[in-house]
Amino acid sequence: MEEYDIIIVGGGPAGATLARLLPEHLRVLLLCDDRRGKPCGGLLAPDAQKALARFDLTLPKEVLVDPQIFAVRTIDLTSRRQRYYQRMYINVDRVKFDRWLLDLVPPRVTVRHARCRSVVRAEGGGFLVTFPGQDGTLETARAAVLAGADGAGSLVRRSLFGPIKTRQYTAIQQWFPLSSVNPFYSCVFDPATSPCCSWSICKDDFFIFGGAFPSRNCRSAFEAQKRRLADYLHMDFGTPVKTEACQVLRPSRPASFCLGGDGAYLVGEAAGFISPSSLEGISSAILSATALAESLESPRPLAAYRRATGHLRRKLLAKNLKCPFMYNPFLRSLVLKSGLTSIRVEGR
Ligand SMILES: Cc1cc2nc3c(=O)[nH]c(=O)nc-3n(C[C@H](O)[C@H](O)[C@H](O)COP(=O)(O)OP(=O)(O)OC[C@H]3O[C@@H](n4cnc5c(N)ncnc54)[C@H](O)[C@@H]3O)c2cc1C
Repeated sequence: MEEYDIIIVGGGPAGATLARLLPEHLRVLLLCDDRRGKPCGGLLAPDAQKALARFDLTLPKEVLVDPQIFAVRTIDLTSRRQRYYQRMYINVDRVKFDRWLLDLVPPRVTVRHARCRSVVRAEGGGFLVTFPGQDGTLETARAAVLAGADGAGSLVRRSLFGPIKTRQYTAIQQWFPLSSVNPFYSCVFDPATSPCCSWSICKDDFFIFGGAFPSRNCRSAFEAQKRRLADYLHMDFGTPVKTEACQVLRPSRPASFCLGGDGAYLVGEAAGFISPSSLEGISSAILSATALAESLESPRPLAAYRRATGHLRRKLLAKNLKCPFMYNPFLRSLVLKSGLTSIRVEGR
């Protein structure tokens, strides 16, 4: 059995950042199931840009996609009002972005491209983790410390800490060949089909429509909203070439976050770090992983990690104050009617 100081499960922005920053003397295994890309809008918000800037990291142009857009069209399908708001996103290919972050992991880290199958506490301390080896047989590795960076549906969290106490939705996205529409981003609200939000994004030759829906009947709600949006935009989306789905979390109170305990820690969305208003999570993944890397050498790592993520947790919870103005139909209608902070787009 292979022995490590720390095993990281998940190689998204949180896992790759943690693996990159851990002290050199630690023996690290990064288990990373990257066969399928993570369903994501792939928009780097200013917070994510700042998190990358903190490490003097510059994005290679291969990670970028066309086009770069400077405004988001906010559409309320109930009141049929819309406004444009300036947003400073960078449009990236999410698969390539994750691969780029993984490429920054130093060679001293053992990276296995495999899906972790089980996680248990070992007798006598530490953790046992199983995953399929190259010949398909199950291998086991052991480590004193375990980090769950395995996203919203985290196996590490479910195995060691039980269900997370936060709102959860099923995010569904479909990719369509981009027809003759002028590319745009949109943020869509439609309480008839979802209490959360939806979005459309253009990436190279594709138009993507996606949204977060209560898990029960999520597919029929998605299809109904897609029809309503297509009708509003007078646009035929065409036939999807790809449909993807995953769980997405929306923290609303301090108990929504689960940082771990007893030698096992959670980072990124596995810990609940994601914006409840915009569902932006890449910055929180990078920042929480950085906080854990800095805390692990402390005599009381969990307390240090809790302290180091205090600001991030408060910031994410404070975003709930913004939610009524986005998600309450009456308040949203007032905001859209007022046009406050919106920009006028010629010809619209
Ligand atoms: C549809 C959608 C659109 C979004 N759009 C944006 C956006 O535009 N901008 C933004 O900032 N945020 C966005 N988010 C949020 C963002 O995608 C996440 O918050 C962010 O990716 C979290 O990073 P992470 O590293 O914690 O987890 P993830 O990115 O989910 O990475 C987890 C990794 O672990 C792997 N993994 C999972 N289980 C195992 C296992 N058992 N063994 C091994 N590996 C495993 C996964 O394959 C994945 O590679 C969006 C979310 C959704 C659902």
